Amino acid sequence: MKDSVAPSTPENSRRSIAALLEPLIALPGTLFEALGSFESGAEKYSLPRFTFRGPNSSDPIHIGIFAAIHGDEPAGALAAAEFLDEISREPEFAENFLLHIYPLCNPTGFEDNTRHSRRGKDLNREFWKSSPEPEIEILERELRTQHFSGIIQLHADDTSDGVYGFVRGHTLTENLLRPALAEAGRILPRNVNATIDGFAARDGIIYQSYEGILAAPIRSEPPFEIIFETPHHAPMELQVRALVVAIRTILSEYRRLISFAANL
Ligand SMILES: [Zn+2]
Repeated sequence: MKDSVAPSTPENSRRSIAALLEPLIALPGTLFEALGSFESGAEKYSLPRFTFRGPNSSDPIHIGIFAAIHGDEPAGALAAAEFLDEISREPEFAENFLLHIYPLCNPTGFEDNTRHSRRGKDLNREFWKSSPEPEIEILERELRTQHFSGIIQLHADDTSDGVYGFVRGHTLTENLLRPALAEAGRILPRNVNATIDGFAARDGIIYQSYEGILAAPIRSEPPFEIIFETPHHAPMELQVRALVVAIRTILSEYRRLISFAANL
């Protein structure tokens, strides 16, 4: 039953969800929950959520980290797993934070190695339009109820030769993405084209986005929202390292910026 094949390697036709999740469920200090339940064919699926509460977090900063909503972009799932493993061994890094990590937002697509879910949907175009897709209902509930101060999404782009990202929400967001791109840029090249993915870009930052992507509901105080993209054709190990470094940089910078603002 236990599958020792690396989750990044499709085995026969399917990539193993268990190989990704089982080591994470055993990590000390992390709380695992399987959200919802839905069927595909004869099989049951749910969306895994891992919660990690750092020290000194009586009034924690809620952060959501979302990966693999496109099932053929496993680097994000592996990076979320690697980050979780690192903070379980180094909890002080998560000081002040309550982290909700969703490593596998499209489990059927992850198994099939397809961008779309097995029902044929690009889930990252279905948000906030009353979509009946079960993955969307589960994720929208999380986005409505968790009151995130920040949302980080991990993606890979097969048309890009370098790392880049999208910013939305809180005005300080680009001040988080900029250092994250600089740090990740030591691992993989940075995409500095004037146009990326059809959008105008400046130094690897895009200020627009597609309709229907995973995003916070409209609120008076919007969270920071960052979509971080790695070049899909780069070696997997480098994509994972770049994404982990990006997450760490975004979180450290955010904590630094808000504690600076609080002390003014
Ligand atoms: Zn993607």
